[in-house]
Amino acid sequence: MAQASTQIEARRKIPRQPECNVGSAGHVDHGKTSMIQMITGVWASAHSEELKRGITIKVGYADAAFYKCHNTAPPASYSTLPVCPVCGRETELLRCVSFVDCPGHESLMTNMLAGAALMDGSLLVIAANEPVPRPQTREHLQALQMLGMKKIVVVQNKIDLIDDEAAKKSHDAIKNFISNTVAADAPIIPISAQHNINGDALIEAIEQTIPTPKRDPAANALMHVLRSFDVNKPGIDISSMVGGVLGGSLVRGRLHFGDEIEILPGLPEEKGGKFSAVTTKVESLGTGAGMAQEVGPGGLVAVGTQLDPSVVKADLMVGSLLGKPGTLPPIWSHVKLDLQLFESAVGSTELVKVEKVRREEVLRLNVGTASVLATVTAARESTAELELRKPVAAEANSRAAVSRRIAERWRLIGSGVIE
Ligand code: GDP
Ligand code: MG
Repeated sequence: MAQASTQIEARRKIPRQPECNVGSAGHVDHGKTSMIQMITGVWASAHSEELKRGITIKVGYADAAFYKCHNTAPPASYSTLPVCPVCGRETELLRCVSFVDCPGHESLMTNMLAGAALMDGSLLVIAANEPVPRPQTREHLQALQMLGMKKIVVVQNKIDLIDDEAAKKSHDAIKNFISNTVAADAPIIPISAQHNINGDALIEAIEQTIPTPKRDPAANALMHVLRSFDVNKPGIDISSMVGGVLGGSLVRGRLHFGDEIEILPGLPEEKGGKFSAVTTKVESLGTGAGMAQEVGPGGLVAVGTQLDPSVVKADLMVGSLLGKPGTLPPIWSHVKLDLQLFESAVGSTELVKVEKVRREEVLRLNVGTASVLATVTAARESTAELELRKPVAAEANSRAAVSRRIAERWRLIGSGVIE
């Protein structure tokens, strides 16, 4: 993947903090990461293991600024450039957007769900040269529907590989698949991510379909942690080390340089496996537009802290909530869920019927960006009580995605609202 490293170097700076998150969804290899690269110029999948294996493992991200030319007819008027690529005139900045790149591999649904928790809209990528739907095309759309995601653009990718007749057939198969789903009315945009075809039409569809939601910047800050890193180079001198960095999005409020912050559920205590809250200070704030004195709700931000990098490294803090001390939602180690199970789930090759939740079975819950295993302690017709293996911070009435092991894999079987 030589292409990948050169693209990382070509990372473009955007003019201001992104104001919303647009996510990718869809089956592995259908072109999610390529599509984000076409728009942003960035290969978002940068983890060394990802480059080696050629698939997205962690949730990746990249930012873009969208511009419109008032002299050129749409969709060619839409671009990511301050100068119109058609007429050369200055374009108007519409908004800056973060792209959240989710993995499509079946074993990585947890990472997909964590990314989906922060999406304001989603691009469902479907390869035009494959039968519709492939398993994770179905599972991801089920997940988006379950999470209440209504802002969806369907992207029919790889149109360079097929002729017009096959493209029409693929379009009809996609249309048929999305009918009766939350994406029934979604636009279907044919593109070739690899050959940079129809990127302008895709930006136009994003502008028309995925508006920036209203958020309250005056409220107490609440950030969901999607990634956490040690950004120090190996072997660095202790005196020049910086604290752990948390990446994610604020759903409300603002963070300022120097703010005291609390992170929940925090870190496990040395003995007994109990968690205790962590408080620290904002040491730096980064966005796609550079370092900032303050950040607001919207797209992805990186918060530098005074935490020991070793407790933050390798995504150890993913799933945490961050905000002003004393203002964060409660911590749960036991939950009662009001369940809504799917009729069928994606199985090994075919759909399988979803059986009722049973006492003592182990399920996986995804709440916000957190993922946790949980043992069912009581199960009734439409409710279940579960003991979580590690605590989760979440607002009451949050929706948890519920997965069960089917044919050796965790499969999404429905959701439950925390009572
Ligand atoms: P992801 O798993 O959905 O993120 O898919 P990737 O973006 O990693 O792409 C998977 C493979 O498909 C890579 O080898 C890409 O080069 C290739 N690919 C992506 N988009 C296109 C396209 O539009 N046309 C063709 N021919 N290949 C593509
Ligand atoms: Mg990918």
